[in-house]
Amino acid sequence: MARQQDEDITRCSICGQEPVGSDFPRRVCPRCDALALNDAARPARAAGDAGSGDNPVSIDGKQCWRMYGSGGWVTMLDDANCRDLYEFCKRNELPLTE
Ligand SMILES: [Zn+2]
Repeated sequence: MARQQDEDITRCSICGQEPVGSDFPRRVCPRCDALALNDAARPARAAGDAGSGDNPVSIDGKQCWRMYGSGGWVTMLDDANCRDLYEFCKRNELPLTE
């Protein structure tokens, strides 16, 4: 049985363990994000300033999208198999970063 206070915590969409922020839908925790692969099955990378990088990425065989911005990125699980970041953002009502 989940305790009452646990219900307010959003957990990672991949491992279901690590608490993540609820400001983005289906966020992925940094630990799972570190396992992300790009479409060449190589570790996903971001540009030096993290303003851009690989997309989509695959974590545990699941498609995820990253929103890159200055200083970092947010990784989110895609539950709808979107074709591109534009479709993913539109579907999840997220602002496009580009
Ligand atoms: Zn996780």
